[in-house]
Amino acid sequence: MVELGYLLAAILFIVGLKGLTHPRSAVRGNLIGSMGMLVAVVTVLLAQEILNPGLIVAGVALGSAIGAVLALTIKMTAMPQLVGLYNGFGGIASVLVAGAVLYQVLGIGAAAAVGTTTADLQMLVATSASGLIGAVTFFGSLVAFGKLQGIVTEKPVRYRGEQIVKVLVTLVSLALAVMVVRTPDQIEYYWALAGVASLLGILLVIPIGGADMPIVVALLNSYSGLAAAATGFVLTNTVLIIAGSLVGASGIILTNIMCKAMNRSLANVLFGGVGAVQESAGGDDIYEGRVKSTSAEEVAMILKSARSVVIVPGYGMAVARAQTPVRILTEALEADDVTVNFGIHPVAGRMPGHMNVLLAEENISYDKLREMDQINPEFANTDVAIVLGANDVVNPVARESSGSPISGMPILDVDKARTVVVIKRSLSPGFAGIPNPLFAADNTLMLFGDGKKVMDDLVSAYRDA
Ligand code: NDP
Repeated sequence: MVELGYLLAAILFIVGLKGLTHPRSAVRGNLIGSMGMLVAVVTVLLAQEILNPGLIVAGVALGSAIGAVLALTIKMTAMPQLVGLYNGFGGIASVLVAGAVLYQVLGIGAAAAVGTTTADLQMLVATSASGLIGAVTFFGSLVAFGKLQGIVTEKPVRYRGEQIVKVLVTLVSLALAVMVVRTPDQIEYYWALAGVASLLGILLVIPIGGADMPIVVALLNSYSGLAAAATGFVLTNTVLIIAGSLVGASGIILTNIMCKAMNRSLANVLFGGVGAVQESAGGDDIYEGRVKSTSAEEVAMILKSARSVVIVPGYGMAVARAQTPVRILTEALEADDVTVNFGIHPVAGRMPGHMNVLLAEENISYDKLREMDQINPEFANTDVAIVLGANDVVNPVARESSGSPISGMPILDVDKARTVVVIKRSLSPGFAGIPNPLFAADNTLMLFGDGKKVMDDLVSAYRDA
């Protein structure tokens, strides 16, 4: 019955993950995955005969309350650090559970009475792996959280002999991991391993710049899965092995997708030291005398004579929470038989799928959300491209093969549209910290202001025009 419960949970996890591959099925997928987790937890409790209802209810209530408060209060723009923190919790849980089992097996302390696991080679190797990977994940995630939250410097922290220090600490961790396997009854080796691996986690993440942090969070997500899978082997718990492997694999796939979308290799992210938040480069030479500022009324007039419009949202739309007037304008345009589509860059915003989530909140049809490869050929036939709070993802500098932090990154070809309207507050650069020649292009009009306010004005002006 227990194995069947685990099998059911595993099936629900996989079906849930499949659901997450499309916005239309994502909410259902999320729910199915959560049900899988409930089945897994209930099965473990029954299997271990942990039947103390008071304790179980208290645990579920406490966990749910913390989760609900975090989920409801977190700002969408702070999502990467929340995910980072969750990964860290997964890592530390693996360290503590594997450590606790070691105490049980060795018969130390109160834990001695329970437990069926024996200290064979598989269990000991898995315990070492849980301690090592879990501690790297926990402390690496804490640093990632600190950087994204602005508690720790966002700049890469580099020092002389950095790679040698990292190699040495890695070797000490591995040596301690071997000692845990060889002399498990000396429990202090396990905690020394956890300690040195914690230092390794900090050393691995601290040299990486803030801009690369979401990629690192995806990678740490994968590590937390590996740590959980290792703990699954410690406990000989099938569902934990499966769930951990799913997290490990999906984390690495996401890491790969993000690296590709930014035209970076993983090695470059981890060891390159680029990805620092750049100092704002002066755009005076590029912008001087060439930037044309416009008004909501003028743009409304242009939209009145347009037949096709593509809206390109970016980080600024998320900050301004401008998605509601975006939906209203879309409806107004469509009522006038204008074709409206959305150009979604894979790294627009600050996390994968950021724009899709915001637009889905407004029930904007998924069919209108076009990926970069689909929409790019259509810009040549587009009357107006509205760039709302996006910058790097439409910066033509990326087309140059070298010389800038975004060189080689695929972009949305908005500059091919007949008219480009860029909505943002100033000529300030985006995340990459570089000027954008699009703002000075002949066919570009700048509509300065907060994204939400400008879009509200545009909606009223369009209705009045
Ligand atoms: P950018 O960060 O390039 O630009 C955002 C622009 O929004 C800014 O230039 C800013 O200009 C404007 N803005 C900010 N607040 C407002 C507001 N209230 N109203 C209107 N505009 C506003 O964003 P993109 O989405 O174009 O690009 C994302 C960047 O983030 C890329 O460099 C990507 O590599 C990086 N990144 C993305 C990740 C992801 O997973 N999505 C992960 C890691 C990094 P102004 O101040 O003038 O208003």
